[in-house]
Amino acid sequence: MDIKKKEEIKTLDVSIAFPQATPAAAFPPCTSDYYQFDDLLTPEEQSVRMKVRKFMEKEVAPIMTKYWEKAEFPFEVIPKIGALNVIGGGLQGYGCPGLSVTASALVFVEAARVDASLSVFILVHDYLAMLTIGLCGSEIQRQNYLPSLAKLESIGCWALTEPEYGSDASSLTTTAQKVKGGWILEGQKRWIGNSTFADVLIVFARNTSTNKINGFIVKKDAPGLEAMKMENKIGMRIVQNGDVLLKKVFVPDEDRLPGVDSFQDTKKVLAASRLMVAWQPVGISMGVYDMCHRYLKERKQFGAPLAAFQLNQQKLVKMLGNIQGMFLVAWRLTKMYDSGKMTHGHASLAKSWITLRARETVSLGRELLGGNGILADFLVAKAFCDMEAVYTYEGTYDVNTLVTGREVTGIPTFKPAFANQRTRL
Ligand SMILES: Cc1cc2nc3c(=O)[nH]c(=O)nc-3n(C[C@H](O)[C@H](O)[C@H](O)COP(=O)(O)OP(=O)(O)OC[C@H]3O[C@@H](n4cnc5c(N)ncnc54)[C@H](O)[C@@H]3O)c2cc1C
Repeated sequence: MDIKKKEEIKTLDVSIAFPQATPAAAFPPCTSDYYQFDDLLTPEEQSVRMKVRKFMEKEVAPIMTKYWEKAEFPFEVIPKIGALNVIGGGLQGYGCPGLSVTASALVFVEAARVDASLSVFILVHDYLAMLTIGLCGSEIQRQNYLPSLAKLESIGCWALTEPEYGSDASSLTTTAQKVKGGWILEGQKRWIGNSTFADVLIVFARNTSTNKINGFIVKKDAPGLEAMKMENKIGMRIVQNGDVLLKKVFVPDEDRLPGVDSFQDTKKVLAASRLMVAWQPVGISMGVYDMCHRYLKERKQFGAPLAAFQLNQQKLVKMLGNIQGMFLVAWRLTKMYDSGKMTHGHASLAKSWITLRARETVSLGRELLGGNGILADFLVAKAFCDMEAVYTYEGTYDVNTLVTGREVTGIPTFKPAFANQRTRL
C-alpha cells in the first residue's frame, strides 16, 4: 500500500455527499412538544427554554459533530454559555441567576436536545460542583467560589467514583488524613467529568480518624494532583472524563466542606442532580425525534418520502408518545422536589424509567435513519451512543430500580446474600 497516497485521501462534505436530507448542523425545528408543554411553564421558564434552544441550535449544532468525532471539548463555547446567565440555577445569590427548578431543568433539556455532552458539562459543573459548595460549603467558601463558577470564569468537577467503587460509591477508599493546618488526600478517582481542565475539584475522601466520608475543595494546581483524560469512549465523547490521581495532596483546613460529615450528606446533592439527570434523556429524545421527523419527510425511497411508510410512522409515533410521558414524569418530579415531597425513591424511579424509555426512543430513531443512523452528522447515532452513558451514570438503571424497590417494600437488596450472611430476604 502506498502510505503517502493514503494521507491524501479526502472526505466529501456530507451535505454534498448526501444531498437528499439535511444534516444536524442545520438543526431541525422542534416538533416533539406535541402536548404543548409550554403551557405548563411560566413566562420566565419559557424564555430560559427559548434562550438555550436558540443558543444550542445556532452555536453548538454546526460544530458538535467535529468535536464529538475528535473527542475534544469546544472551549470556545464556554464564555458564550456563561453569557446566557443560566449557570448556578439551583442556588440563590452569589452571582447565580436564581432560576426556578423547572427553568434549571429546561437548561439541561435544551442543551441535551442538541448535544448531550454539553448538557453533562453544565450538569457536573452546576448541579454537582456548585451545588455541593452551595449546600455543604461555609459562607466564606460560597463567597469565594460561586461567583466565578456562575459566570463560567472557573470550571468545577465532582469526584466521587473510584476504579473499584462505582455503584458502591459509599465504600470509597481515597483517604483524608488530618495534619497540622489541613488534610492529606491520597487515592484515585475515575470517570470524573471536566476534570482534565477544571479549576476546582470537589473530592470525597474517607477521614482516617472517623472512617466517615468528608468533602474537600481541591484546586487544580495543588501539588500531587494529576488528571488524565480517559480515551476510547463510544458515548459522551465531548465530555472530558478523567482519571484523577491524588498523591499526598495537601488541602488547607479552610477548603474542607463543613457540611459533609458522612456519605449521607452527599445525598442531598445527588437527589437534586438525579432530578436534573432525569431530564437529560427527555432532551436527547426530543432532538432525535425532531431529526427523524424532518429526515423522514426529506428522504425518498420507492418514489415516496420515508414518512409515507406505515412502519416508519408507527416508530415515529411510539417515539413521540414516549417523549410526552417522559416529560410529564420529569415535570411532576420537579414539582415534588420544589415542594419538598420528592424522596430518593421518587427520583430513582423517574431516572430509571425515563432512561429506559429514552433508550427505546433513540434506538427506534437509529433504525429510522437507515445507514445514516450510524453517522454522527445526522445526530441520531451520536445521541444513541450518548444515551448509553446516561443509562449508567448517576446510578445505573438497575441500582436506581433497587433504590425505589427498597423504598416501596422496605427491604434493601443491594448486597448479595453471601456479602451479608445476616440478610434474610
Ligand atoms: C459519561 C460518564 C460520566 C461520569 N461522570 C462522573 C463524575 O463526574 N463524577 C463521578 O464521581 N462519577 C462519574 N461517573 C461514574 C458513574 O457514576 C458510574 O459509572 C456509575 O455509578 C456506575 O458505576 P460503574 O461504572 O463502576 O458500574 P458498576 O458499579 O461496576 O456496575 C456494573 C453493573 O453491575 C450492576 N450492579 C452494581 N451493583 C449492583 C447491585 N448492588 N445490585 C444490582 N446490580 C448492581 C450495575 O447496575 C451495572 O449493570 C460517570 C460515568 C460516565 C459513564
